[in-house]
This record gives sequence, structure tokens and C-alpha cells, in this order.
Amino acid sequence: MELYPKVYQIQSLYGGRNLFQYLFVGDNVVLADTGTASTPETTIFPFFDKVKLKPQQLMLAVTTHADLDHQGGNDAIKRISPGTMLSCGEADRELVENPESLYGQRYNFLKDDHDVGFEGDPSPDAGRHRYMDVTFTGGERIHLGENWWLEVLHVPGHSQGHLALYDPVFGALFAGDAVQGRGCPKATGEMGIPVTYYHVDTYLSTIRHFERLPLSVLYTGHWPVMRGEEIQDFFSESRHTVEFVDRVILRRLQKHPSGLTMKELINEVAEAVGDWPDDGVFLAMFPIKGHMDRLVQQGKAKLEVGSRPAKWVIA
Ligand SMILES: [Zn+2]
Repeated sequence: MELYPKVYQIQSLYGGRNLFQYLFVGDNVVLADTGTASTPETTIFPFFDKVKLKPQQLMLAVTTHADLDHQGGNDAIKRISPGTMLSCGEADRELVENPESLYGQRYNFLKDDHDVGFEGDPSPDAGRHRYMDVTFTGGERIHLGENWWLEVLHVPGHSQGHLALYDPVFGALFAGDAVQGRGCPKATGEMGIPVTYYHVDTYLSTIRHFERLPLSVLYTGHWPVMRGEEIQDFFSESRHTVEFVDRVILRRLQKHPSGLTMKELINEVAEAVGDWPDDGVFLAMFPIKGHMDRLVQQGKAKLEVGSRPAKWVIA
């Protein structure tokens, strides 16, 4: 779908949710996100055909952040178009390059202490090891044409190296999964999975950063296109969710002086939120771990050492 001249949204489904990549056809052809391992061959390059582009014309693929549905296609792109440069945020580089690191350091880092995580082996959807040709730290510009460029923004919180691309001429922000409202919807509209931010304070900074950008339209990895006031409402809802989760965790810890495990906290928070579906609710381990790290740092909670799975108690 053409969003505005020379800018396209490429759509497919993954786990019932929309999965979007974005294509910029300027003097340089730039792709934002590469989908899962199969997305380039099933969706992205067939879309190239429709707009009369060859895979070899793709100059740069920017992976917004370390997650299998955003980075998994890097290997297929490089295989089909070896001249395309692969890129991501510097702080996400190792996770984006290597599915083993993605699983070990991001998806399953809570397994030993908290008994929550993904299936053991990297899913084939995560693709194969591929080195990044270039990494970004925010502040760079990608040239697209005369008086037309993308600004690379460093917008951490969901991941350490999360990037967004900003087109200041059109007031368009391509935000990936940097800001998440109350969770991620399915393509049919109902709630699909919980929020998955992790670093709470940096996530809040990213929301503030976005709120100050002049924006007319917001494009994301999975959410519907948002315009005008919908954008500010989405940012407000994202901040409200952080505050709500924090309050729920504290109240539940107060109610259970003997402490709560990660799985118990996930259930408590999910019950309070109300519409996170059961099958993906374990993904709330990311924000809950982030909130617990922050509450421990603030002296409001303590991690009990010695019990397995570990428990947090009110301080
Ligand atoms: Zn995503």
C-alpha cells in the first residue's frame, strides 16, 4: 500500500497480528524491518515486483530492533541481494546478528531464576546469523532525495538499541515497536499480546521524545496507522499503562507479604489489565522484570535470594 509518494507499507500476518515493513523509494531504496525468516521471499520481494523494483536495488535494510519478527529476514535479504547493506541499532547488534544470542540474552534470560521464557531452541522464524554492515546510534540521516531524508532516532525501552525513522518533511514517524499502548492488537482488532517494554525509565523517555516531535502520522510494526489526536492518545495510553502496571505490582506485593514469583506477578498484572490473552501472557515477563528492577532500585521491593523460582517481597 502506498502511504504517500514513494513510501509504502508492506503487510503480512504473524501470529494473528499484522506485521509491517516500510519501503522508501528515493535516490536510495531503504527498507525498515525485514520480518521473519520467510517474509522477504513470501511478502517483501513479491511487493518489490509490484512496484517494479529488483531486490538488488535495495540499498539499505534497517532492523528497528532485536526481535525475530523484525530481524528474521536479514539472512534471506543478504542471500538474494548481497549488495544490500544490513543495519540496526548498535546496542542491539549482537542480538540482531545472532539468533542464539537473541534467545539466550533476550527471550530466555529469566528462565533460570524465574522459570519463564520461550521454547529452548531459536525458532526457524528468527533466521540465521548475519553480520550487520553498519550500525546506528541515533542522529544519522539517510538521504532519499532532494529535500527528503530520514532521521535515525535512538528510542530505547523495548530494546536497548531500538531505532525509529523520522521523515520530518511529511511529519511521519516509523516507530517499530518502540511505544506500545496497552499491548499489541491482532489484525482483527482485539488484544493480541501484552506490552513488552523492558527498561522502564528509558521507555518513558522514548514516549516523551515522541510527544515532542511534530507528527502528522504514526506508522508502527503492528498497530493500525494513527493520525492527529490518535497519536497523542496512544502515547498517553502507553505512559498510563506503565504507571498502572507499577501501581498494580506494588499493591499486590503489599497484599502478599510472603512474596510473589514472576509467574504469580504475571497473573496478578494480567488480571488487573483484563484483556491480555492467556496464550501470550508470559510475554509480560519483560515489563514486570523491568518494573521489579526499578522497584528494587527505588528501595520499594527486594528480591529474595535462595528460593527457586525467585520471589520478590515488599521492602
Ligand atoms: Zn514486533
